[in-house]
Amino acid sequence: MEINISLIHVGTRPERVLKSSSKPQTGQPETQKMERPRFVIEAAEAESMAQKSGLTVLQLLPTLVKSAQTLARPPISKFHVGAVGLGSSGRIFLGGNVEFPGLPLHQSIHAEQFLITNLILNAEPRLQHLAVSAAPCGHCRQFLQELRNTSDINICITSINSNERKYHPLSHLLPDRFGPNDLLDKDVPLLLETHQNGMSFNLCNGQIPETENPKERLKYAALEAANKSHAPYSKCPSGVAIMDCEGNIYKGSYMESAAYNPSLGPVQAALVAYLAAGGSGGGGGGYERIVAAALVEKEDAVVRQEHAARLLLQVISPKCEFNVFHCGCKKSCSRF
Ligand SMILES: [Zn+2]
Repeated sequence: MEINISLIHVGTRPERVLKSSSKPQTGQPETQKMERPRFVIEAAEAESMAQKSGLTVLQLLPTLVKSAQTLARPPISKFHVGAVGLGSSGRIFLGGNVEFPGLPLHQSIHAEQFLITNLILNAEPRLQHLAVSAAPCGHCRQFLQELRNTSDINICITSINSNERKYHPLSHLLPDRFGPNDLLDKDVPLLLETHQNGMSFNLCNGQIPETENPKERLKYAALEAANKSHAPYSKCPSGVAIMDCEGNIYKGSYMESAAYNPSLGPVQAALVAYLAAGGSGGGGGGYERIVAAALVEKEDAVVRQEHAARLLLQVISPKCEFNVFHCGCKKSCSRF
């Protein structure tokens, strides 16, 4: 059975249309499709969708994976990965993989990284269940270790469990893990937990002034993103804000992995915000609509994002104006 979800009007609150109300036949994989991009489903709507389909919310997640795959942008591999997560609030989040022609592959955003960034954008405190279209790669299994209590996260791989749709703990996929506990004190905030890095510009002393100036708005949005950055290993938090041609701003915080390489850059995180805005926030179009960007990082950072950020932005949107702002860090910054 296929159930379609669509946005009735672009620019308004997404509405759902169920094109089929029949219950799934036993053993038949069920799929729900979205005609327009949607990246968050509210808890009440998720419950209602499940009920109308004769499913539990956990059974609903795998049925949304194909919709998540349609949100992916993989022009290099053409391999669409979809990830669907259930948060502790009851909301459902979607993510897809994103690739950038003309750049090294490590600039790519994996679907699971997109999903986690989507949770962060929506201040979701915990990921509880995850359904993915293909077995998570080693990179993503490692990236997910940045979450608290990863053994409590259950995963359903729809390509493997096409009929049974069973969930297994993440610890089954990475039994002898290396992660935050190997490097950090237990009270250090992990991904999805509140970060306040104490970064500020000298003049504003952490207080973000009211301003209509687009460049200033972008700069302070990047500072806000930097203050939410998860960088406990390098202690070099950073944030990026990008602006589209309509003046909408999208923020992205740098996210580190204990294993370093799976870390997600701040431009990638901001691009997730841009893409996840779909049609409703002005985002989600071509990258050439991104006209300006700002990066905030520490002046004495040993891990710098500037060059990688500039390269990525130049390739995806050559006319994008890019400014870098260095700032100080209060003492609290040394202890995230
Ligand atoms: Zn991956």
